[in-house]
Amino acid sequence: MYDAGFFEGIVVEDVFEKNFLNDFIHLGKSVTNKIRLIIQEELTLKDSSLRLNFDLYFFDDKSVTMHLPLKVGDYTDFYSSRHHAENVGELFRGGDNPLTENWIHMPIAYHGRASSIVVSGTEIIRPEGQLLKQNKVVFGPSEKVDFELEFATVIGKSSQLGNPVEISDSEEYIFGFCLLNDWSARDIQSWEYKPLGPFLGKNFATTISPWIVTIEALNLFRVSVNPKKKDLPYLQMHQPESFDINLKVHLNNQEITHTNFSKMYWTVHQQIARHTVNGCNLKVGDIMGSGTISDEKEKGSLLEQTYNGEKPLKIKGEIRTFIENGDTVSLSGYAEKNGVKVGFGQAVGTLKKRKKNE
Ligand code: CA
Repeated sequence: MYDAGFFEGIVVEDVFEKNFLNDFIHLGKSVTNKIRLIIQEELTLKDSSLRLNFDLYFFDDKSVTMHLPLKVGDYTDFYSSRHHAENVGELFRGGDNPLTENWIHMPIAYHGRASSIVVSGTEIIRPEGQLLKQNKVVFGPSEKVDFELEFATVIGKSSQLGNPVEISDSEEYIFGFCLLNDWSARDIQSWEYKPLGPFLGKNFATTISPWIVTIEALNLFRVSVNPKKKDLPYLQMHQPESFDINLKVHLNNQEITHTNFSKMYWTVHQQIARHTVNGCNLKVGDIMGSGTISDEKEKGSLLEQTYNGEKPLKIKGEIRTFIENGDTVSLSGYAEKNGVKVGFGQAVGTLKKRKKNE
């Protein structure tokens, strides 16, 4: 489309020739929004040259190889669903006090690993590691590989080291969103996480969907959330907002979760305010995971669904507690209102046994 002159006078360099979207995102919202609107208009007008030459510019997704949409800089994973935090807290620490004292005061997170973020369709190798089995410390393949249904924010503007991003300015820093599966080895995780949090139980793989939906494309789907919260001023928004996005998980083509992004307790604006309040900087291409999304009924991980393996699920006639070799997990998402539908595609991964010498 650049070569055909669709973006003449808007971008001077063909940023779409690059392997990643980072250079495009770097151009800033004043440019990226114009490009989005041009494509949208061209797709809407009946006799546009894009419509008339549709097959020149668009391909069936099954006929192409999808790649990572961006070179991910830093990856931070939040823990912003109250229902998920309570479910996991109950399983790991007992039911009396499932939330840690700090949880309702700020969005909790850990720094993840960007190098092992992979695009949808990439095989996931079952991790091996050190774990506690029947009160003995052993080494072996994880027996509790799990998925986590998450939504990820892609950072679209860099902030300066030492300068916190005010919550009222936080939206300027959001380029868009994609789906994210934070693969987790629960047995490795539960043995290693005290006192510094997730490490090898999480960083063996994280799958994201292959395209990013810009925040501007989601204006129609904004919803108010948590109006009664009393947070410290740096986390307060005049009108806290989230997005009405349907999210589903299929295990071997059977739907096992159907929830909504708006169920999150902490918003992405609050996550950005917290992330930068100490002066930590954000960079274009950083990703912030939402944390597993669960709600009153639905659960965004097998850890929660099977009560850490105690109550198995039946998937296509087979019993499952955690993910077996050959199983495929697929996250999908869409927003829909007034006849307008925006799709997030899928984040798919199949678990494979590690081959010797691999
Ligand atoms: Ca997570």
